[in-house]
Amino acid sequence: MITVKDLYKSFGENGVLKGISETVEKGEVVVVIGPSGSGKSTFLRCLNLLERPTSGTIVFEGQEITGKRFDEDKLREKMGMVFQQFNLFPHKTVLQNVTMAPIKVKGQKPEAARKRGLELLEMVGLSDKADSYPNSLSGGQKQRVAIARALAMDPDVMLFDEPTSALDPEMVGEVLAVMKQLAQEGMTMVVVTHEMGFAREMGDRILFMDDGVIVEQGSPEELFGNPQNPRTVDFLSKVL
Ligand code: ADP
Ligand code: MG
Repeated sequence: MITVKDLYKSFGENGVLKGISETVEKGEVVVVIGPSGSGKSTFLRCLNLLERPTSGTIVFEGQEITGKRFDEDKLREKMGMVFQQFNLFPHKTVLQNVTMAPIKVKGQKPEAARKRGLELLEMVGLSDKADSYPNSLSGGQKQRVAIARALAMDPDVMLFDEPTSALDPEMVGEVLAVMKQLAQEGMTMVVVTHEMGFAREMGDRILFMDDGVIVEQGSPEELFGNPQNPRTVDFLSKVL
């Protein structure tokens, strides 16, 4: 579904991604772990062109998206993204947050968008909050709305950048549960997270990033059970 080749990204003098080549298969759950500042967010943001790569190519569903004239809006319809911060519109209801983009961007009929929005809110366990405003929700509820909103565009892949890092501990589980359900339904996912339990249980493949490169990758058993690179060993000794 996604093929990344020799991806480099610099901000001025600061080289952040230093040659990443990676593929993501349809239906795969790829979990990216690594220390703060290693380039995980930049990598995800390059995948959906929130950042323009300095060099290298990204092919998504057979199309090179790193070419000059590629339509970024079309791409983002197919790649949903969930951030650490939820970025909900405060003056719209929960349901309006979920249905706005499908109506405005995809031209869905309001009634169809509403029906689908309610289904998605049910999926994330928030049917009863459809007419509430974001400010009345907990962090975990807001993040579940953000997931429903991304899914409303009917994406082919979902990118998650530390979706539980801003949450109080007691709300982490409810968000991970929604992500698990999505994974089990076969959604292709790239997930940056510090939740090693989720990585172990749901990851088809774990990538360990450090200093702008993928130092090591493997199945959860390989990477957590028998890490090969000293940097991986060192990182895991701090987080496990
Ligand atoms: P991670 O998500 O692994 O913590 P990031 O990808 O956020 O790492 O950041 C990696 C490096 O890139 C950091 O040194 C950060 O300061 C730098 N960086 C990220 N985004 C920008 C930006 N928009 N402008 C300048 N530097 C950036
Ligand atoms: Mg980050």
